[in-house]
Amino acid sequence: MWKITMRFCQFIVIMCVSFCVNVFAEPLKAHTHGEGKLTVVFERGHLLVALETPAANVMGFEHAPQDESEREIYANALATLKAPEKLFELTRSCRLSRTDVKIPEVGHEHSDDEGVHEDGEDHEGHEGHEGHEGHEGHEGQHMDFDATYDWQCADQRQIKMAVKLFDVFPGFKKITAEWIAFNRQSSATLDASHSTLLLAP
Ligand SMILES: [Zn+2]
Repeated sequence: MWKITMRFCQFIVIMCVSFCVNVFAEPLKAHTHGEGKLTVVFERGHLLVALETPAANVMGFEHAPQDESEREIYANALATLKAPEKLFELTRSCRLSRTDVKIPEVGHEHSDDEGVHEDGEDHEGHEGHEGHEGHEGHEGQHMDFDATYDWQCADQRQIKMAVKLFDVFPGFKKITAEWIAFNRQSSATLDASHSTLLLAP
């Protein structure tokens, strides 16, 4: 039991090194249209993937949806982000265990507790933010989507992950991928023609 606890602690530390740094660095995080970031941690069969992207990459705009067609684009983008099987093709032994997509709040830094779970209350169609005077039409206003996905993988020897974001959302031109797996840390720049990650010892 003690051993399991220790392993769990190690895992938390690894995740924290990766994700807490991102969380604390949030105000400074890069926001370049066309670019996204993937952070991947694979530890003892548990695969955690975090995607950060400007909303422009997945919707083509970064303001609250203002008409029927923008509302549809927004809803479709959100639905697709909540369907990781459309975004990643993984080693067959991996089973999705959790999806968490944060709803961006226009004109504000979003806080950490706005995660929307599959069964949670949903802020879609939450038009209240449009009432915030002065935020709409701000020059340089930006919006980001943050999504995290968890899989449990029975085969722990290696993980092959084809990133299909470039096909699904043509707004993506380049994705920086950083990963920790098999006690190693590495990174790569993905694009439409190089979009597969192989995590192996
Ligand atoms: Zn932007």
